[in-house]
Amino acid sequence: DLTGLVRETMRSIEELARSKQVRLELLTKEPVLIRADQKRIKQVITNLVNNGIKYSKEDSQEKYVRVRIERKGDKVLIEISDNGLGIPKEYHEKVFERFFRVGTVMDHRVEGTGLGLTIAKQIVELHGGRIWLESEPNVGTTVFVELPVGDER
Ligand code: ATP
Ligand code: MG
Repeated sequence: DLTGLVRETMRSIEELARSKQVRLELLTKEPVLIRADQKRIKQVITNLVNNGIKYSKEDSQEKYVRVRIERKGDKVLIEISDNGLGIPKEYHEKVFERFFRVGTVMDHRVEGTGLGLTIAKQIVELHGGRIWLESEPNVGTTVFVELPVGDER
């Protein structure tokens, strides 16, 4: 149950989110069953939600990371959205390359190795899925993870 897994993952990050005044919201309530490596999918969600928290705007009021899960035929789409720093268009693909970090996050002194999204992409692709993002600087970022439902038995 992907929804349950995401809920559990978000709970484990709640403390960090609270300390940064970022509100975590899981918009999906109903279970979505897929065949996947729980530990690895948890690792992907952890990095994506962590990124949403890490790259939030310090001075902003209503900071959030929202997750939505939607079943679409034999696929499931996970959306992780934040209203944080955002990523300039020229880096939308680059951020999935190892060790790549956007210069502005370095200015904000946010710690990281630049491997999270690279690892997420590998895990998602090994499951037969895709990952991409939409983002606008100073507005926010949405990362999309599409996974095949797989064998539900
Ligand atoms: P780590 O290996 O600890 O995850 P990281 O967070 O720097 O380090 P990635 O998760 O791969 O590495 O992200 C790469 C870069 O993409 C980040 O350094 C940041 O510049 C940018 N980025 C990723 N997610 C977001 C986001 N939600 N908002 C703004 N920038 C982001
Ligand atoms: Mg990261």
